Amino acid sequence: MDFITYDKLSEYLDALVKAKNKNPVIKRKDLCLSPCGFPVTHYTIGNGPKHLTVMAGTHGTEIIGVDFILKLMKVISEGKGVYKDFDSNKFTLDFIPCQNPEGFIIVTEVLKPYVSQLTEKEFETFSRNYYLNYCKDDRVYLEINKFLEDKDIIDKFWDEYRLKDITKDDVFNFLTSCHKENVKPKISELFQTLYELKIIDNLDNPVIYKEKFHHQMFKNLSYQNIEEKDKRYTLLKNKVKNIMETKYESYTFPKASLIDWRANSNGVDLNKNNPNNFKIKEEEKRKKGFKPLFGTMRFVNLMREVKGPQGKVSVSDQKFTFENENTGLLKHLLNLNKEEKYVGAISYHGTGGVIYSRPKNPLEVKKQKEALRTIDKYNELLAISYQNITEYKIMPYPKQLTGTGDMIRMLLPGFLLIELSKMGGNPLGPYGDKQNYQKVINDNLLAFNEILKAIKNEIAVK
Ligand SMILES: [Zn+2]
Repeated sequence: MDFITYDKLSEYLDALVKAKNKNPVIKRKDLCLSPCGFPVTHYTIGNGPKHLTVMAGTHGTEIIGVDFILKLMKVISEGKGVYKDFDSNKFTLDFIPCQNPEGFIIVTEVLKPYVSQLTEKEFETFSRNYYLNYCKDDRVYLEINKFLEDKDIIDKFWDEYRLKDITKDDVFNFLTSCHKENVKPKISELFQTLYELKIIDNLDNPVIYKEKFHHQMFKNLSYQNIEEKDKRYTLLKNKVKNIMETKYESYTFPKASLIDWRANSNGVDLNKNNPNNFKIKEEEKRKKGFKPLFGTMRFVNLMREVKGPQGKVSVSDQKFTFENENTGLLKHLLNLNKEEKYVGAISYHGTGGVIYSRPKNPLEVKKQKEALRTIDKYNELLAISYQNITEYKIMPYPKQLTGTGDMIRMLLPGFLLIELSKMGGNPLGPYGDKQNYQKVINDNLLAFNEILKAIKNEIAVK
């Protein structure tokens, strides 16, 4: 268990390519270059006619996914454990270890001063504290919402207080302004709960601070930590500087939100970056009267749908465009499909312990009903084989197709998105408990093999 930076990732991959393993890792042509010129690299194991793509690192902050894919490449290449019978004449595995190198560099470079000198044990302790702080941030949001009950009142409350310290008097005044009466006992109860959760440290003069707990650990976090190793890094640093210093009236992104960075250097979230979501977000903005939009839970103070850590749908608000990293991926998948080599793709994300596998419910569509039914059946088969090992929850049919994965799932069968660690809090939460970490890695190493078996059986039936 150690902290992977972009340099380490490259070293590790080079070593895998050079290793004289049973199933060699071959470096292929890069899928594309990121906006600052970092390659989205592509490696294969096996020479079989059936191509399964395995990718990670769509979101910068989700380093556990990149970590996992490296470990997966290693065991398959070595032909160890369940992979001793890996059939390199049947399968070619196409690995994209880091789809969003820029996001990965931003997060790991700014974190370096905090974690690179730690021993494994210290890294675990630091990560556990981070995890606990992350949980506290979520609890603040959840407890206050539970207390306020009403959706409109909740929205109004956060609109007013998302960027302010919150005292008992503030809550009292807010509720009075909403014409609520006899609120004092309930407010005391709320603060008692927050005290027991160690969110506030006293009951005489309690304050819920505007600075998120998981940000308080990183007082000196800055884009300045991005080392200018070459022109690409200089460009990247300048783009991040620009985003972090942009003022929206009095709002700027909290400095420490660099660790929450999901987007690429264009401030676009690759998983939001699809034309259908562009329409959905346009509609959302219109509904909210073009007021700034913010995240929820621990991201309640982070502006979204603008260039930033949380990312937006498309560089331009006027016209949708795909980011390079997605164009490269789509070309890769569609080419394989055209050449009748494609059998599926697994995209690894950070935390949640869930599986997104379902396209739109075939019962709810008129067009392409049969095609969708086929995709649904195949995806369900793969998802269940994965779930048998990991016990991850299979997510229901999506109501709206917001994710880029949702879009691909409507075109191609077998596109699964796996949220790895049940221990939340990217980027460090998954490293907060060594046993939990090892279980995540081991279970998923086994579950991936179940996917290979399921595809093999399915093909045999055909
Ligand atoms: Zn993600």
